[in-house]
Amino acid sequence: MKLEKTFAMNSRALDVIAHGALTNSKRPQSFVFGAYPTHLVRGMGCHVWDVDGNKYVDFICSLGAILLGYRENKVNEAVRRQLEDGSIFSLGSSLEVRFCERMRELFPYLEKVRVLKSGSEACSAAIRIARSFTKRKVILSEGYHGHHDLFVSMTPPADGVFDEFKIQKFTGEVYPWAAAVIVEPIITDYSQERLNQLKKLREDCTRLDVLLIFDEVITAFRFPGLSVAKWSGIYPDISIMGKALGGGLPLYVVGGRREVMESQYFISSTFAGDTTAMAAGLAVIDLLNSDYSIDQIWQNAGRFQIEFNAVCQYVVQMEGYPTRGIIQGSDLNKALFFQESVRAGLLFGPSYFWMAKHQEETHRVLNILRPICTRIRNNEVKLEGEMPQKPFAQKQREN
Ligand code: PMP
Repeated sequence: MKLEKTFAMNSRALDVIAHGALTNSKRPQSFVFGAYPTHLVRGMGCHVWDVDGNKYVDFICSLGAILLGYRENKVNEAVRRQLEDGSIFSLGSSLEVRFCERMRELFPYLEKVRVLKSGSEACSAAIRIARSFTKRKVILSEGYHGHHDLFVSMTPPADGVFDEFKIQKFTGEVYPWAAAVIVEPIITDYSQERLNQLKKLREDCTRLDVLLIFDEVITAFRFPGLSVAKWSGIYPDISIMGKALGGGLPLYVVGGRREVMESQYFISSTFAGDTTAMAAGLAVIDLLNSDYSIDQIWQNAGRFQIEFNAVCQYVVQMEGYPTRGIIQGSDLNKALFFQESVRAGLLFGPSYFWMAKHQEETHRVLNILRPICTRIRNNEVKLEGEMPQKPFAQKQREN
């Protein structure tokens, strides 16, 4: 496997892009630098191609943005059709009304919604809405919610963040003086015990009149029912839905109880009404009601996860729910696993995601992984690149 063009491209990136990357979790340092490609040029189904022309089965799924597959025909078709009419207009569009109606049909607990372009933006909007509604400052937070000052302020050294934002780590206790508790309802643990915690959290928030915010940026469209709220029957006051919704385009929704969403605040963005992403989102929703089913995706993903863990036993293990996991193991085993799998055409990273199109490749992938894991277990593999560093989001989740 040649990586000559990768190294040249990475030098150019380091030269012109501050810190070398646009997305923290995509930095070459998050993988085994030296053995990994750093820049991709194309995707199709579950495959991606790097700048040197190497082809991989992609288990990063653009950090969860891809749930069906790259360049899903009907998603691309919907975007192309929308481009014929225009991507953005000087007034609101009829498409945004249709899209928001469709979201509410799908998630009736989102009585009123807003559309935004990034998860960070949507999470910080949710916090503003909660503070405006409750007229309280303190926010209790668990998990990763993006790059805005408020969330970065929680993870030292928080360079460039100076103000006192009144955000605190949620440790299980809800305080009546808090405006809201914001959590990723499920990071990896989807056990009954976690559901009991969430149920208690819902009860505590209701009793103390504190708002509950579910950040479903990753979990939305990756659970049966299409959200953890619907899957679990535990409903927050505000939800942030994202990533997979846009079928590869930037599309996030923040929504919730009518009176909360209708409190007074200023949230506005020129490109919030970008019609191409909403056309893609509507296509994803339609596809999940026709060509694909989330229950089937969940079942296939679950079967693969069990088989993966059996094949990779004693080397690495995938911890998580069927459509998303975190690769666990000793730092060295993880690095060796990443290095050997990428060389065999499998693109893994610390954060694992499943997409529907993986199903076509599961047998081949497991057959590739089997000898790799045997060789690592027998100490026959040496690390030839750099040890991966933890992405910021992972640090914040472990914080
Ligand atoms: N919340 C969660 C749970 C996330 O995983 C992420 C991104 N990984 C965000 C918020 C921030 O979203 P974005 O990167 O689109 O700003």
